[in-house]
Amino acid sequence: MTKTISSVSRRRLFQSGAVMAAGAALGSRIPAALALEAPQTNGLDALARDLRALRGTRDQPSRLIRPGEPGFLVAAWPNNGRWADVFPLAIAMCTSDRAVGACIAWARQEHLPFAIRCGGHNYAGFSTTRGLLIDVKPMSDIAIDPRSGLVTIGAGANNQDMADAFRASGLAVASGRCPTVGISGLTLGGGWGFSATRYGLTCDALRATEAITADGRLRRATARQGEDDGLFWAARGGGGGNFAAHTSFTFQAHEVHDVTVFNIVWPAEQQVELMLDLQEIQLKHPDLISTRSKMAPANAGKVTRRALHVQTLGQFFGPPERLREVLAKPLGRVTPIVCEINAMGYWAARDYLVTDDPTGLYDIRSSYVAGVLGGEGLERMISWMERWPGGSLRQDNMGILFAAGGKVKEVAPTETAYVHRRSDFIVEMEASWSPLDTPEVVAEQQRWLTNYFADMQQFVQKESYVNFPSRDLPNWLNAYYGENVRQLQTIKLAYDPDNIFKFPQSIPLPG
Ligand SMILES: Cc1cc2nc3c(=O)[nH]c(=O)nc-3n(C[C@H](O)[C@H](O)[C@H](O)COP(=O)(O)OP(=O)(O)OC[C@H]3O[C@@H](n4cnc5c(N)ncnc54)[C@H](O)[C@@H]3O)c2cc1C
Repeated sequence: MTKTISSVSRRRLFQSGAVMAAGAALGSRIPAALALEAPQTNGLDALARDLRALRGTRDQPSRLIRPGEPGFLVAAWPNNGRWADVFPLAIAMCTSDRAVGACIAWARQEHLPFAIRCGGHNYAGFSTTRGLLIDVKPMSDIAIDPRSGLVTIGAGANNQDMADAFRASGLAVASGRCPTVGISGLTLGGGWGFSATRYGLTCDALRATEAITADGRLRRATARQGEDDGLFWAARGGGGGNFAAHTSFTFQAHEVHDVTVFNIVWPAEQQVELMLDLQEIQLKHPDLISTRSKMAPANAGKVTRRALHVQTLGQFFGPPERLREVLAKPLGRVTPIVCEINAMGYWAARDYLVTDDPTGLYDIRSSYVAGVLGGEGLERMISWMERWPGGSLRQDNMGILFAAGGKVKEVAPTETAYVHRRSDFIVEMEASWSPLDTPEVVAEQQRWLTNYFADMQQFVQKESYVNFPSRDLPNWLNAYYGENVRQLQTIKLAYDPDNIFKFPQSIPLPG
C-alpha cells in the first residue's frame, strides 16, 4: 500500500512565499508597498498564464510571483542572507514537473538565466538568480511503501517534511540536521547526517529520480542499468543545479530502532587531547557512533583558548551504559560541564539533535580528513580561532569535525559522483556576522576565513564538500569532485550540451 502524506507544517507555511502570497489573507509581514516594482515583460505574462493552467500537487495550480506582489520578498529570501539582494525577475512556484518543464522552456526561449530552488540553503547563493527562480517547494508529497521500504519524495520536501512523514512508519532515510534543508540539494550534493557512518549518505539510499533535462524531457533515472545511468550516477554527489531540474527522488528506507543520543561539553581544558580522543573513538566504532565534534568559544567577543569548549553531539546505536564505556577516555580525562546521555526512540532522537533554523549571514569552507586531524592540526586550528578578528556574534562553527567514514567509505570514490570516500571527517570552518557589523568587520572576517582555510590545507585532504560551497574556494572543481570531474563533464555534455544549467561553480562542458 502506498501512503501519501500531504501535511503542511507551520515552518513550511512561513517559508513558502507562495502561501504567503496566496493570501495577504494570512497576513504578509512584508507590506506590498515595500516590495519591488514589477518590470513589464509580456513574456512573463504568458508564463504566468501557462503556470496557472498547470495543476499539480494537491491539485494546486503553479503560479508566478512577481516583484511588487505580496510574498515576493519572503519567497525570494535565501537561507543565507548574504545573497538576499539578488532579486529574481519572478519566482515560479511549481506544483508539477510539467510546470518545471514550462519554466525551463520559457527561460531558454527568452535567453534568460534561471536557478532552481528547493530548501534555499546553498551557502554560496547558487539558488539565487536575477533571472527566473524555479521553486520546487510546493512539490513536497511523500509516499511510503511499507512493504518494499521504497519512499518517493517530492523534490521540494525538506528534512522536517521527511521527519513528519516517517515518524509513524518505523522507517527512515538518512538525512541532515537542519529542518529546512531541502531534499534536492541535500541528496544531489551527498547528504550528511547523524546516521551517515552507520547507514551511509542520503544519496547512497537513492534508487531513482525524476528530472526535467535541458531538452524538456521528463526522465526517470534509476539504479537499473540502461535507465539514464549517467544522470543517476551524477545525482549522487554531483551537486545541485548542474544537469537537470529534479522533481522527485525515490529512496530505499531503513528500519529504525531506539538509539542513545548525547550532548557532552567539556570545560576549556585539554582541547587537543579531547578532540583526539573523540576522533579515535569515531574511527574505532563507525557503525556504532556518529559524532559532530567541535571546539567553540563559550561567549561572543574575542576568542581565547581559556574559553574554548569542546563539544560532541551525536547518536549511538546501543544502550547508554555501552556508550559510557566507549566514551570512557574523554569522560575520564576532564569532567564535562554538560553530560546528557539518553536513550530514546529514533525520531525523538532526531528532534533532540535537530539544529535551529539559522537566519543570518555567513561564509563557509570545508575540507576532509582521512584518519585523524592530528595534534598539530588541532593546535593550528585553535591558533586561528584566537586570531578571529571580532564581530557581533558568537562563532559557533569555527572548527567542526563531522564523522563521514564508516558506511560512507564502503562505496568506491568513482561508484557515485560523491568522491570523498576515503575520508573519515568533513571539516567545517565558518564565519558569521550580523547587520551590527560594519563592512570593514565583515571584510576582515572573510579575509580571516580565507587565510585560516589556506593555512589548514597542510593538515587536511585538498577536497571540499559541494554542499558546503564557497565562491572563494580556489580550484573548486577538483576540490568538490576530484577524480570524477571528467565523468561529470561527459554527463554534462550528454544532458546539457548548451550549458543552460549554469551558475558560477556549475560543471563546465569538456574541453
Ligand atoms: C543551516 C544549514 C544546515 C545544514 N546542515 C547540513 C547537514 O546536516 N548535512 C548536510 O549534508 N548538509 C547540510 N547543509 C548543507 C546543505 O546540505 C546544502 O546547502 C544543500 O545543498 C541545501 O539544499 P537545499 O535544497 O536546501 O538548497 P537550495 O539552495 O535550494 O539548493 C542547493 C543547490 O541545488 C540546486 N537545486 C535545488 N533544487 C534542485 C532540484 N530540484 N533539481 C536540481 N537542482 C536543484 C540549487 O540550484 C542549488 O544549486 C546545511 C546547510 C545549512 C545552511
